[in-house]
Amino acid sequence: MSPTANSAVRDRLRIAIQKSGRLSEPARALLASSGLSWRESRDKLFCYGESLPVDLLLVRDDDIPGLIADGVCDLGIVGRNVLVEQAGERAEAGKPEVFREWRSLGFGACKLSLAVPDDWTWEGPSQLAGKRIATTYPNLLRGWLREQGVQAEAVVLNGSVEIAPRLGQADVICDLVSSGATLAANQLKPVLDILQSEAVLAGPAQPFGDVRAELADLLLRRMDGVLRIRDSKLLMFQAPRDAVDQLMLLLPDAEPPTMCAIDGADTLSLQALCHGAMTWQRLEDLKRAGARGLMVLPVERMLA
Ligand code: ATP
Ligand code: ZN
Repeated sequence: MSPTANSAVRDRLRIAIQKSGRLSEPARALLASSGLSWRESRDKLFCYGESLPVDLLLVRDDDIPGLIADGVCDLGIVGRNVLVEQAGERAEAGKPEVFREWRSLGFGACKLSLAVPDDWTWEGPSQLAGKRIATTYPNLLRGWLREQGVQAEAVVLNGSVEIAPRLGQADVICDLVSSGATLAANQLKPVLDILQSEAVLAGPAQPFGDVRAELADLLLRRMDGVLRIRDSKLLMFQAPRDAVDQLMLLLPDAEPPTMCAIDGADTLSLQALCHGAMTWQRLEDLKRAGARGLMVLPVERMLA
């Protein structure tokens, strides 16, 4: 694919997602909730968009930024860790910025952390001076070391980073962590987070110059709608007018409610979109503060 392919005129949008792995199911679910449907090719590498001219390419996550850079794909769903690492690699090689993060998507959360042997007493980044740090993310690590003004060596490994100190390949590691159990099993402890990561929608640094701009816009608006209501519920209840201010204090995560008077003017019926979890405990607190007939309803779709 030619390096100018990104500027080539196309009338369908192509999104790269992970073929199989931690991000593949949630990425598909998000796109399906945004109204996309597909017909899958026999080799399961390409999905032809049926409801909209938006196709999917199923690939390894590490290939996604490069596919956008080469113009093979227009958008991609990938971990911020991968995107920032590869952006750093391009910058280091003097290449221009061609892709960037468009949206964070709220799944695939993990941290790129520095972990040291259990028996170290951690005193801060300066302790890393002259040490060997095993990682799969050398650009992210070197960028961070530069910011800290610390000189250390990045030992680049493609897998099993956490075992490197035990093998004598490195003194400490810089790796993705979600639970910490793997670190503990290797007698390591996390001491510092270098990057908070999650899945992101990656897109070109420059806007599209053809019909893909409208398609991307439509998709973004739908995705924003899905993301906004992901944990949201519609809360309905009745309350005496003079209890409403107190009740709204218990709902700091609610949008301004719709209210209408019933029973003359002393009782109000309210409905509010709440963005946090609506637990039994919260409902009981609301009831104690005067709410009656509390009802929690799922929200399926929203268009702002
Ligand atoms: P591929 O075959 O596509 O290269 P992979 O083995 O590189 O797959 P996964 O392990 O599925 O990829 O991880 C994909 C992304 O999931 C990571 O880049 C990261 O953003 C995110 N992630 C979330 N939690 C973790 C974790 N505990 N360990 C590794 N990655 C995680
Ligand atoms: Zn990968």
